[in-house]
Amino acid sequence: MRDTTQELERWLHAGGKFVGQIIVMHTEGGWELRHADDARRGELAAFSKWEDARSLANFDDTGAYRALKTAPNLRHGWRLVLPDAQAVRLALDYFYPAMIGVWLAHGRGEIMPVEFHDTLARQTGMYRITQKLTHEQAQRLIAKQCRTNGGCLKTILWQISGDVAVPLLPPEKFRAGATPVDSMPLLCHEGCNFLVAAARKMVKDESPAP
Ligand code: SF4
Repeated sequence: MRDTTQELERWLHAGGKFVGQIIVMHTEGGWELRHADDARRGELAAFSKWEDARSLANFDDTGAYRALKTAPNLRHGWRLVLPDAQAVRLALDYFYPAMIGVWLAHGRGEIMPVEFHDTLARQTGMYRITQKLTHEQAQRLIAKQCRTNGGCLKTILWQISGDVAVPLLPPEKFRAGATPVDSMPLLCHEGCNFLVAAARKMVKDESPAP
């Protein structure tokens, strides 16, 4: 855990600024986090504990619950003033759970992406039906659920199966190296529960009536 904080601090001092929709700024007293859209905005509600990140991350601008923390709907209007890198790391873990650890592990070559086909093959019970999802359906599903604009900010490291691509999304969506150097990529190494649930709905909705 201490190494994670040190790596994050090293990255910040080397010019790292953006994590998802958050900008992390160095201040005289430590660090300040804001929504990147609010970087130059005054009159923001001030918070001072890393635990405040939890409530800030939970609801969007309309007050709706954010089930997927990497959706591009982080609320605006706040600033979180923190004393040190340890507090920044803990706050970022509330905003984007596990993303710093995955980013560091990916840099060390320790992340093994799981093909979507294999994720579905493991499903049991009410989700077993997702194994009927065709490649064409998977392409449409991923293009809708995982798109950066309105879906999810993560960069996808996995394939559907073998070399089956998702032509409906831009190639940068699948290249961690396409992220600007001052931004930490949020990495997806396996299709999430939301995608599997959406796959179930698609299979059920598009199956011919018995
Ligand atoms: S599968 Fe990955 S990229 Fe797609 S919505 Fe889930 S977390 Fe985001």
